[in-house]
Amino acid sequence: MNIIIASSNKGKIVEIQRWLPEHTVTPYSEILGSFEIEETGKTFQENAIIKAKDIVKRLEESKYDKEYIVISDDSGITVPALNNEPNIYSARYAGENASDKENNTKLISKLNEKNISKTKAFYTACLAVAYKKEVYTTHGWMHGEVINQEKGDGGFGYDPLFIPDGYENTLGILENSVKKELSHRSKALSLAMKVIGVILK
Ligand code: IMP
Repeated sequence: MNIIIASSNKGKIVEIQRWLPEHTVTPYSEILGSFEIEETGKTFQENAIIKAKDIVKRLEESKYDKEYIVISDDSGITVPALNNEPNIYSARYAGENASDKENNTKLISKLNEKNISKTKAFYTACLAVAYKKEVYTTHGWMHGEVINQEKGDGGFGYDPLFIPDGYENTLGILENSVKKELSHRSKALSLAMKVIGVILK
């Protein structure tokens, strides 16, 4: 199936392409060019739906004529000891257009302000699957802890600060295969592929 990803986040695109090797997975920007989609939702699910619908609308307007499914991903990390920050604001924790490094530095300084070196955290991913006029959503979560120093440079985003439950190292150090096995995104993606299997029958 021709899957168009409603995301410009390179880390997400790489993971989704790596985990769906049997599909053609194309970032929307390769078809529609680059632009920002405003995330005005109050939940991961609302934002995922906004992104998927926006890309479907623009594909229709551009008279894109191949059959396609759009998948969007809205995701982030939640730290209960920091009043559940940054949650849906994960990409903009240190401000609009903040880099991963700036967001990690902000999270570290928030932990340090509270003298926390390690505390529970979890990632959430909501994927929206848009096909014809319908939109379906799936969720996945990954639980673990965040620490107040970056370790490793694998993965993306907050991965150098995140130690999944059952492991000693951060996702910045662990193999990609661990993230594929455990991650919020891979869990939501495997549910999304089940949805796609049903709607294409
Ligand atoms: P979104 O593009 O608005 O959904 O923001 C997602 C943000 O959440 C990313 O920019 C990262 O900061 C964070 N995030 C989501 N998933 C991951 C992950 O798998 N690893 C690390 N950070 C993630």
